[in-house]
Amino acid sequence: MRVDVVSIFPEYLAPLGLSLIGRARAAGVLDVGVHDLRAWTHDVHRTVDDTPYGGGPGMVMRPEPWGEALDSLVPPGEESGARLVVPTPAGVRFDQAMAHELAAESHLVFACGRYEGIDQRVLEHAGTRMPVTEVSLGDYVLFGGEVAVLVIMEAVTRLLPGVLGNADSLAEESHAHGLLEAPVYTKPPSWRGLDVPEILRSGDHGRIARWRRDQALVRTARRRPDMLAVLPAERLDKRDVAA
Ligand code: SAM
Repeated sequence: MRVDVVSIFPEYLAPLGLSLIGRARAAGVLDVGVHDLRAWTHDVHRTVDDTPYGGGPGMVMRPEPWGEALDSLVPPGEESGARLVVPTPAGVRFDQAMAHELAAESHLVFACGRYEGIDQRVLEHAGTRMPVTEVSLGDYVLFGGEVAVLVIMEAVTRLLPGVLGNADSLAEESHAHGLLEAPVYTKPPSWRGLDVPEILRSGDHGRIARWRRDQALVRTARRRPDMLAVLPAERLDKRDVAA
């Protein structure tokens, strides 16, 4: 997958070189370019913002540098496979389903807004050439889109084939099947007076799987009843209902 990120703070994206994302890049699974939006300005001050039409506080990112940046990263006529992702608190809420959707793309371009955001015409124009998705991390406001890109890229990269050593991790984890994952434990068996549940040390894989499923259901019911409420009935078996 090719990923381009445009920001006025490219240093903010340094973590895209670390840990498993860094390894995915080294392995050739992911090809990442981080770009300074100011490279596409032409005045001595390298201006990217201006006052909002209609008045009001703050500044808005001007369309010209964004237009040139997008033309350069996705040349007109070569849009096939490209998708523009724009983090914004006014976007669709990011979730695991969207992570899967983005992981299936061949070229993602992220536009990191700052100030009061990007002139809307940039998104409108890009939308005539490629799919544009405005994505929100949640119902709160950040300084800029960079942290959102890091979050989205963590979620997307772990879904790319070959990135996780054990692909089973994906099958069991929270949000894979509309449930939260059961609690996890490791050695030692007893720590500060707290014991690992006996069943996990029993070696009985059938009972362990059932225990984990029950814990996942109970945890989801207590913490995220909204998730259980929309879980399709066919995802439950008779023993689930008893739990
Ligand atoms: N004026 C905008 C509004 O009220 O919708 C908020 C602008 S915010 C201060 C600046 C930038 O931070 C946004 O353009 C976006 O890139 C990013 N941002 C802020 N909150 C975000 C969120 N919840 N999800 C994704 N990106 C966010």
